[in-house]
Amino acid sequence: MTEIDPVPLAQLTTLRTGGAPERMLEARTTSELVDALRQVWSRGDEWFVLGGGSNLFVGDEEFEGTVIRVLTSGIERLSSPHPGRSRVRVQAGHDWDALVAYTVEQGLAGIEAMSGIPGTVGAAPVQNIGAYGQEIQETLVEVDLIDEATGAVSTVPASDLGLGFRTSVLKHHYGDVPARRAVILSVTLDLADVGDAGRIVRGEQLRRALGLQSDAPVPLAWVRERILATRTAKGMLLDPEDPDTYSAGSFFQNAIVPDRVAMTLPPECPRWPVTPDLDAVTVIPLGAFDGQLPPIASVRSDVKVSAAWLIEQAGISKGFRLPRSRAGVSTKHALALTNRGNATAGELAQLARYIQSRVHAEFGLVLQPEPVLVGVEL
Ligand SMILES: Cc1cc2nc3c(=O)[nH]c(=O)nc-3n(C[C@H](O)[C@H](O)[C@H](O)COP(=O)(O)OP(=O)(O)OC[C@H]3O[C@@H](n4cnc5c(N)ncnc54)[C@H](O)[C@@H]3O)c2cc1C
Repeated sequence: MTEIDPVPLAQLTTLRTGGAPERMLEARTTSELVDALRQVWSRGDEWFVLGGGSNLFVGDEEFEGTVIRVLTSGIERLSSPHPGRSRVRVQAGHDWDALVAYTVEQGLAGIEAMSGIPGTVGAAPVQNIGAYGQEIQETLVEVDLIDEATGAVSTVPASDLGLGFRTSVLKHHYGDVPARRAVILSVTLDLADVGDAGRIVRGEQLRRALGLQSDAPVPLAWVRERILATRTAKGMLLDPEDPDTYSAGSFFQNAIVPDRVAMTLPPECPRWPVTPDLDAVTVIPLGAFDGQLPPIASVRSDVKVSAAWLIEQAGISKGFRLPRSRAGVSTKHALALTNRGNATAGELAQLARYIQSRVHAEFGLVLQPEPVLVGVEL
């Protein structure tokens, strides 16, 4: 572990905001990362770990605490207990897209639709990253992590991480502390070994994004190329030349609302059903079964509605800026708030609040931010 002169977080985050923290450490190996965290925790410092800084919105004031940069890397290939599959164990600081490129090259399928998502592998389960219908929870087996409460390192199965739509027990949601304060050290994925032949693409969302008509298998490299091109067109692939990518990706989450609320929205508003919790099973012990089945409890069905649509219908078009502000909505995607050049966190927060108030006034819904907010309020 190395202590370095603190670098302004505006240089290390893709939204390009934030001053220098009080203290900054770099960890290049897992044992350095573990040592750094234990040291910071024993001092009782405020802290957070920084991966690629692509899901963080940091305030303008100095962060009074320690930022630990996760710079570990490395991919280990392991066998899978399932025939026709292979596993990879990847260090937390490894670049996510470099991992996707590696798996595609190796003919391993399962994360190719998430090509081009910025950031590190260790941060990927934190918000259960996903794109075009594919999410990391579909292939995630387990993570090695260290808990702040005990200082202990353990292997935790994916099923214990509370993974859901852009969430997990590790994520700092706006206005909330995470259910589990822990840092991921490595991630293990279980992938299908499909080789050069590729595979049939099944998900409707992905098929649409790829423009697929037939059921013929397609090579993984082709899927990756198409996804990267689509992301470039939407400003969702980091490019130092393109200010539309000086963002944290989607700034607001798609709103999840009960279906009775969704029914009040105009029919053109894009929406997707949220799968009900099918784990809620009623078990009747055989001895207590009197031949009568209890009535089926109604399952509340939620609906996910498009935040981009709500924003545009509330009168905020792509490229929108408040007067004299250096923050603006991306010219390619209504969900991305961007830094058009030296915007402060204050300017970005003002734009975010304005959008929230317009959507609330129009539709009665409060959009929630997707990035993790540090030292800034909406
Ligand atoms: C242009 C653009 C496009 C994007 N597209 C998508 C997309 O399609 N889908 C999607 O899901 N996301 C997307 N994102 C968001 C972002 O890329 C992901 O959330 C990514 O996983 C963040 O990784 P990071 O390393 O940059 O995390 P950071 O921003 O560095 O950190 C995010 C949070 O995770 C915590 N964290 C970081 N590393 C660890 C660790 N090892 N253990 C525990 N906590 C950790 C941090 O403390 C912080 O709270 C996009 C962002 C941008 C800028």
